[in-house]
Amino acid sequence: MTAVTVGYEGDIAFITIDNPPINATSHVVRAGLVDALDQIDGKDGVRAAILICDGKTFIAGADVTEFGQPPKDPILPDVIKRLEACTKPIIATIHGHALGGGLEVALGCHYRVADASAKLGLPEVNLGLIPGAGGTVRLPRLVPVTDAIDMITGGKPITSAKANEIGLIDAITHGPLRDAALDFAKTIVDCELPEPLTKRAPVNVPSSDEWDALNAATTKKARGQTAPIAALNAVRTGVEQGADAGLAHERETFVTLRDSDQSKALRHIFFAERAVAKLPELDGVKPNKLSEIGVIGGGIMGAGIATASLLAGFNVTIIERDEAACANGRATVEKHLTGSLKRGLISQDKFDALMTAVSTSTDYADLGNADLVVEAVFEDMAVKHDVFGKLSLHCKADAVLASNTSYLDINEIAARCINPGRVIGLHFFSPAHIMKLLEVVRTAKADAKSLATAFAFGRALGKIAVPCGVCDGFIGNRIMSAYRKQCEYMLEDGALPHQIDVAMVEFGFPMGLFAMQDMAGLEISWATRKRLAPFRDPAERYVALGDYLCEMGRFGKKNGLGWYRYDENGKAQRDPEVDALIVAKSEKKGITRRSFTHIEITETILSAMRNEGEKILSEGIANSPDAIDVVMVNGYGFPRHKGGPMFLTAKD
Ligand code: NAD
Repeated sequence: MTAVTVGYEGDIAFITIDNPPINATSHVVRAGLVDALDQIDGKDGVRAAILICDGKTFIAGADVTEFGQPPKDPILPDVIKRLEACTKPIIATIHGHALGGGLEVALGCHYRVADASAKLGLPEVNLGLIPGAGGTVRLPRLVPVTDAIDMITGGKPITSAKANEIGLIDAITHGPLRDAALDFAKTIVDCELPEPLTKRAPVNVPSSDEWDALNAATTKKARGQTAPIAALNAVRTGVEQGADAGLAHERETFVTLRDSDQSKALRHIFFAERAVAKLPELDGVKPNKLSEIGVIGGGIMGAGIATASLLAGFNVTIIERDEAACANGRATVEKHLTGSLKRGLISQDKFDALMTAVSTSTDYADLGNADLVVEAVFEDMAVKHDVFGKLSLHCKADAVLASNTSYLDINEIAARCINPGRVIGLHFFSPAHIMKLLEVVRTAKADAKSLATAFAFGRALGKIAVPCGVCDGFIGNRIMSAYRKQCEYMLEDGALPHQIDVAMVEFGFPMGLFAMQDMAGLEISWATRKRLAPFRDPAERYVALGDYLCEMGRFGKKNGLGWYRYDENGKAQRDPEVDALIVAKSEKKGITRRSFTHIEITETILSAMRNEGEKILSEGIANSPDAIDVVMVNGYGFPRHKGGPMFLTAKD
């Protein structure tokens, strides 16, 4: 198969790329493009060329199999220079995604036409890189510099409509792309060949003050990541020092970043996320068809899960205890979908359609057609048994029955069901319609078909589904419990809550453990601790500080007092009363308090994560260290650019 072919329609040439699955800029494509351009340049009678891709997308990125290998000529920057030098106008014709090197190729062309549903972006910063084939130099010469900066430092693709608005594309089409490109070509064949972008001036150059503001905003948003700031500097160099200096600076920065720890960590997590749900034992196992989803409980989690299912195109039935709870569940779903509507993620028509696709009921018999049911009722074994008993009775024999329990033993839940093979855990994270992570809990008797169906459901919802075994807290909550314990020990041994929190934020967590506990509310975990108190090993060290806070009526942010004191704007302040309590309780236990450096604090947290991670692996709860990293990065705020606790602490 040839990856690049050339055909002709009258005086218009078609250069077609066919390199499935994403038409990546592999060596065959790069070499094929140069050959195609040579052919067209030398051919009399050709007046323009349309660069188009077969399959689902335009060029959507680099070839991952070439990562880490020595570059093979022609390299992409040279291919793009060759495109720019072509004597015939080239029209990039974009459908699906034009990402990374794909968009850079399009920028090397003289014109760009895109399908209305296409997305265009330079997502390199997400891998700790900057565009390496002229993107930082060409884009700000086509669209306003600040728009280019948004795209390059943020890494988020934009829609065709936005691309059209800022001047990134020359035409947008709702009809057949090939025809649109041909029509467009006819309008430009008689025009003078446009100047290549590298020869043009940047568009709307920011003032010195504006550059300062852009720098401050990018640094703040980057939260410790180097690539976004490097990307901004690359754009600025190209804008202020000219295209040649910009291209040289961009290449040098790209090569430096490619070898950086951050880029290695980001690439690690990128690949781990894609590999984690692939279970060899499920190869060839066909999942059940999914169309009707049942959700038991319309509370915080149930309403979120229902919303996620609706957005994925399923019909949803929510079962609640009474009519009032049904109305509450429905109202929460409506609130979530209104949020999506306001953010422009769904249209009014879609919103209306989704609201008709959700129904509520108090009667389990209404789940007779459900293909998969997620239970999200109170965290109480007796209630769960009651619910699964009813599900066994009313659901089809092959309906998958999932529990969203955080801590309860799903094997015990399954054991009382008529067909335990179809009972699994689907542990969502709050808010369930937004958080990407999903732990798929494999019960002892789970059959392959039910598991395959659960993963298919996760995929349909756009989640990163991580397989894990049954244990207290699965992967994520179990690791969090382990490091929380170490943080509590540090409190008693000499640290204060704000010191631990500052160390965690400096490390890259969005917030520290104690601020997070205040936000979640302290009384729920207090109730759990009280419930588990009779079973606690008396020999184990127990830190009761959280209990004392609750006894003092300090339940966290919602009542203005927790580990911190909150002002009228909800801003956390250190509370001398809490600090004094901590010091007094250490003294009472006869502990001589000592100081902790920020490095000691983060190292203590990391080694707690590592140790628990090792235990989880040895018990077969997680399949690989990568699975643990994916969970901690996507569900627990572990900084993505550090790759996850197992990656970061791995010995070379
Ligand atoms: P919630 O209290 O907000 O909602 C529970 C809902 O279940 C309530 O609306 C209640 O009316 C309903 N309910 C109770 N018994 C029922 C029954 N027999 N039949 C039908 N409906 C019933 O609780 P939540 O925070 O949504 O938690 C639900 C489950 O999800 C728990 O198992 C919890 O451990 C788990 N979970 C919670 C979170 C979280 O962050 N809140 C995260 C992951 C998992």
